[in-house]
Amino acid sequence: MTPFIDTRLRDALAPFWPDCAAIGSHVAGRMVRGHGELVAIDDPATGAPLYAYHDAGEAVVAEAAAAAVAAQAGWTRLTGAARGRVMQAIARALQGKAEELARLESLSAGKPIRDTRVEVAKVAEMFEYYAGWADKFHGDVIPVPSSHLNYTRREAVGVVLQITPWNAPVFTCGWQVAPAIAMGNGVLLKPSELTPLTSMAVALLAEQAGLPAGLVNVLAGYGHTTGQAALGQPAVKKVVFVGSVPTGRLIAEAAARRLLPCVLELGGKSANIVFADADLARAAIGAQSAIFAGAGQSCVAGSRLLVERSVYDRFVKMVADGAAKLKVGAPGAADTEVGPINNARQYTRVLAMVKQGLAEGAKLATGSDGSAAQSGFFVTPTVLRDVSNSMAVAREEIFGPVVAAIPFDSEEEAIALANDSEFGLAGAVWTRDVGRAHRVAAQVRAGTFWINSYKTINVASPFGGYGMSGYGRSSGVETLFEYTQVKSVWVETAAEPAVGFGYAPGVRE
Ligand code: NAD
Repeated sequence: MTPFIDTRLRDALAPFWPDCAAIGSHVAGRMVRGHGELVAIDDPATGAPLYAYHDAGEAVVAEAAAAAVAAQAGWTRLTGAARGRVMQAIARALQGKAEELARLESLSAGKPIRDTRVEVAKVAEMFEYYAGWADKFHGDVIPVPSSHLNYTRREAVGVVLQITPWNAPVFTCGWQVAPAIAMGNGVLLKPSELTPLTSMAVALLAEQAGLPAGLVNVLAGYGHTTGQAALGQPAVKKVVFVGSVPTGRLIAEAAARRLLPCVLELGGKSANIVFADADLARAAIGAQSAIFAGAGQSCVAGSRLLVERSVYDRFVKMVADGAAKLKVGAPGAADTEVGPINNARQYTRVLAMVKQGLAEGAKLATGSDGSAAQSGFFVTPTVLRDVSNSMAVAREEIFGPVVAAIPFDSEEEAIALANDSEFGLAGAVWTRDVGRAHRVAAQVRAGTFWINSYKTINVASPFGGYGMSGYGRSSGVETLFEYTQVKSVWVETAAEPAVGFGYAPGVRE
């Protein structure tokens, strides 16, 4: 096979790259062809080849690192206000090409267009939000007990490596790039080899809006080659990884050898807890969107549905009936609610997990029995009932439209089941009892928790995991601590300072 681009994809790329002959990486403002092996990408909706490109490889990574260092040196010297103005212009540029970006994401990642439109709008919001922070996140003056003036400076980390997965490529790009550049950093972004296109389009639009070329470079290629090459670049001073637990462990180990700080945003097996006193009609819709939105390929998916036993049969049927009515179909169709699984490997895994669940004794309330679809990587929204928390479908992240419904008898048991997981990314409770809602929210170990809601996230609110779901925080003001380092500066102000050997004297009692 040689590099190629399917004609439908060529059309979707045209608003960004009118004459794109071959996909490469976006480095120093240009599309640069890779030197590594060929990466072949299928259309998730049909399984047919969509495009193939050369993995970036070491030379392209080195070029990107050099470009990022050069661009970051100038960018970080700008005032925060000046960076903010460029970021506002980026938000406008993204809004101006929102439909084109949503279509490219829908086609290349297999996501329903109604979802990608929302995600692109949120990416523009992220640049707006962090544009506002660019001149407001600063150091402090600390009243030290001596004759010194002590102040802190919040400084950029330098060049940051961001490695992201395939489930929400454009969203994750904005989520990480916007705060990084707001604080004056340069970026090497290594998206999943399966979904590099919209991240490159965001970088291109950002440059057209005034971002210096080379500040944000997008490396298209595999993790074990291009990702590892980027991890080895001396220019890289921090690693932000979004992806699976096994890869997160590899990245953290590699980063530790260089003493590079890491942020890890990993997987989840989140518990969505429904008490008998909840508004069950709303909870059922919440439970469906918790797991079936994005075809379950969401780190915060409510993949364990814990239901109070007295309403278990009734509630599971409500969720199953609703699931059966969801419109599964082509990502580009306006009414599609559930699209395909992104890639063949993940598709095979989802089907295998369903089969394993049924073999371990779970019952199929609705959906797939683990058989393959006729074409494309489609999995029907699936509700497994009579699941126990020890089954693989309750312990492992499936990352597909499959929910495991587990009964419980008491508040204590619900909390214990929710916490009986190595993950701790998110969770929810549905109840009309205000006291219970807050008790449960306080006791479930998870970085995000919803009461009578699911999956609302916003750039203004911190996001991240407990336990094996990772460490460090994205979004909100918290991520700005990740994308800066603090320097403490001491200034002697005494007319006649006491100068001596050892610690500076002059402490005022
Ligand atoms: P993955 O771990 O397989 O890959 C993620 C990224 O790591 C990709 O860019 C990949 O190319 C790269 N990579 C793989 N091996 C590498 C290596 N040896 N060195 C350097 N880079 C390497 O994950 P995935 O299958 O792409 O995504 C699904 C996972 O992502 C799920 O577990 C999901 O829960 C998680 N996720 C987490 C969040 C969050 O914020 N917590 C958000 C979205 C997805």
